[in-house]
Amino acid sequence: HQFPTDIGWIEVICGSMYSGKTEELIRRIKRAVYGKQVVQVFKPKLDNRYDETQVVSHSQLKLTSIPIERAEEIFLHLAPRTQVVGIDEVQFFGPEVVSVCEALANRGLRVVVAGLDQDYQGRPFEPMPQLLAIAEYVTKQLAICVVCGNPANRSQRLVDRGERVVVGAAGAYEARCRKCHRAEP
Ligand code: ADP
Ligand code: ZN
Repeated sequence: HQFPTDIGWIEVICGSMYSGKTEELIRRIKRAVYGKQVVQVFKPKLDNRYDETQVVSHSQLKLTSIPIERAEEIFLHLAPRTQVVGIDEVQFFGPEVVSVCEALANRGLRVVVAGLDQDYQGRPFEPMPQLLAIAEYVTKQLAICVVCGNPANRSQRLVDRGERVVVGAAGAYEARCRKCHRAEP
């Protein structure tokens, strides 16, 4: 993309688990750093699968980040010189993350968010639909279906915990295509 230089905007990276959302977020943030941009990356605090202060991809790429509980905390941490804000696992924030992203972009910042667009039953994972609607740039990533090898847009839950999201459970999900996905584990 040829990005604008004098206004802010929102980029959304979405897809299933293992589709490379975090890798793509890390790639974009690292390129911004090469471009001498001041960046800050945030992630929800509930996600303690790996190092608390790092965004880590399934392929072990890492990025320093600030863990926060609520999206509004971004304003408390935001440095005056920051030009690029990254948010990983954005689906874990409530609907207020939408207005937070809007406010940041309106201030002239580049906002790059990554998150699941569907839950384990294949339902839209709010607030992602709202973010997709207001974003300037949208990237939908696909994983590889571990059953049949087709492109996979769904996250198959393998264990039943009665919650919408099982955090920190290695082996709790796998990438599946439309044909191989089942709404229940
Ligand atoms: P996401 O943030 O979308 O969950 P990550 O960026 O953390 O994904 O990890 C993507 C990486 O996961 C891939 O580059 C690959 O190394 C690995 N991977 C593991 N299982 C799969 C799969 N079924 N399809 C594609 N990539 C997979
Ligand atoms: Zn399949």
